[in-house]
Amino acid sequence: MVEGRGLNLIIANTAIITGDGKTIHPKGHVGIGDGKIAAVSLGSDQLPLEGTPILDVGGATSFPGVINSHAHGCTFGPVMPSGSKPFHADDVRYYRNRHLLSGTTTLLNVCGLCLPDDIADPSGAPHPLRIFSTTAHSPSSRAAAFDIDGSGLGPRHLAVSAEEVILQGAVALGEGGGGQTLGGGAQDYAFLPKAIAEVTGVLVHASEAKRLKEVLLGRSLQDLQPSPNDRFVALCDELHLLESASADKVAKAVAASVLKPMRNAFLGLAELAELSERTGLPAILHNALPSAHHILALARAFPSARLIAAHSNHPSFSPEEAVANARLLRECGVKIDVSTLDCISTHWRNSAENLDALIGEKLVDTLSTDFAGGHWDGILEAVHRMVVKGQLSAPQALSLATGNVASIFGAFNDAGRLEIGKRADIVVADGLNLARVRHVIIGGQLVVMDGTIANSAPPTVT
Ligand SMILES: [Zn+2]
Repeated sequence: MVEGRGLNLIIANTAIITGDGKTIHPKGHVGIGDGKIAAVSLGSDQLPLEGTPILDVGGATSFPGVINSHAHGCTFGPVMPSGSKPFHADDVRYYRNRHLLSGTTTLLNVCGLCLPDDIADPSGAPHPLRIFSTTAHSPSSRAAAFDIDGSGLGPRHLAVSAEEVILQGAVALGEGGGGQTLGGGAQDYAFLPKAIAEVTGVLVHASEAKRLKEVLLGRSLQDLQPSPNDRFVALCDELHLLESASADKVAKAVAASVLKPMRNAFLGLAELAELSERTGLPAILHNALPSAHHILALARAFPSARLIAAHSNHPSFSPEEAVANARLLRECGVKIDVSTLDCISTHWRNSAENLDALIGEKLVDTLSTDFAGGHWDGILEAVHRMVVKGQLSAPQALSLATGNVASIFGAFNDAGRLEIGKRADIVVADGLNLARVRHVIIGGQLVVMDGTIANSAPPTVT
C-alpha cells in the first residue's frame, strides 16, 4: 500500500486485525520505520524486503497493542484511591511485566493520588511499557483517602491541585472512588478483615467479610444506622467472632470501616465530574451498586463531562442490575468500561456472569483489567472468551481494548490501530487464541520476543 523505504523491521506472513472493530486481513506484511507503522501490504504483495530485518511470524496474527485504561499498582507512588503506601518496587516491576507479557503496550494507572513523577523506576531502569497516570487530587477525594488510610501520601502529593497534576502530565481524571472508599472489593479483602480482626482476633476471608458487610448494611450499603440484626448475629456466630467480642462491637467495626470514607468519596466523584466538564479530560468513576445512582445523577448534572463508568461488571451488581445500569448510563453519554478482574481464569472472588451479560447486550465500550487484589486476568484472555463463546468476532472484541480506547480517551490516539502513521505498538499472537502472545513491539522496538522480555536484566537474588 505504501513504499517500504526506510523500514527498520518487517513483520512478514501475518494475519492483521486493525483495531477498527471490523477489519481482519488474512495475510499481509507490516513495515515499521522510525517507531511507526510505515507500510502495510496485503495478500501476496510483498514489501521491499532487501536489507530490512524480517520477523517472519508464519501466519500468526498481528494487532495493535492493548491499551489498558484501568490498572493499578504500576507506579512507585501511593496506591489506590485510599492513598495507601506504595507497593514494594519488585511487585511494581512484576505487575508491569505481567501486563507487558499479556499484550499491553500502553497502560493507564488510575490510582489517582500518585503523580506522573512516580512512574519512573527509582532504580533508573527503563521499562518498555508506556505508562500514563491520572489525577484525583481533589479535596474530597483526598479526604476520603485519609478516612480509610492515606499513609502513602507525602507532602508533594498533598501540595498539588488536580489542575497542576494535569500540567505535570496526567492524561485523565480518576479513579473517583474505589473499592477502599466506596465499600467495594478492596474493603472486603484489604480493610474489613483487618478491622474485624482488631476487635475479635479472628481473620475472616474476603468473601466472609463481604457477607458480613452486606447482611449489616444491605447490598447498596444504604443503611446508615446499622444495628446487628438476627442474620448478622447468626453469621458472626458461624464465623466464631462472638467468642471474644459482642455482635454490637463487630457491627460497629464493620460499619466504621465501610461507611466512614463514603461521604467524602461521593463528594469526590462530583468534584471529578465537574473537573471533567471544565478541563475536557475523561473522568473514570468507580461504578458499583452503591455508587451507580450517583454517577447517573452526575451524568445528568454535568452533561458535557466525559464520564467513564469503570468496571461496570462489578460483582456488587446482579447481571440484570449491571445491564440496566449500563443502559441508563449510556443513554446519558457515559462510556461503559468492563474489567477482567479475576473473572476469566482465576475465579478468586468474581465470576464472568456480569461481563458476559454486558457483552451479550452490546453495552461495552472499553475493556480493562482493574486490579482485583493483584489477581487480575489478562485482557486478551477476556477477548478470547468473547470469541469462543461466539459473542463477538475477534476484531470486535479486540477493538474494546485498542481502537475504542484510543478514540474515547484521546491521549492514546497515536496508538490503538494497526494503520500507517500510528505508533508501531503491535502484538503478534496465535490466531486461534489471541491471549497466547508471542511477540510485542512498542514504538518499533521488539520488546517481547518468543514470550520473553527482550534484553531483560538477569534476576538478582539478595
Ligand atoms: Zn474501582
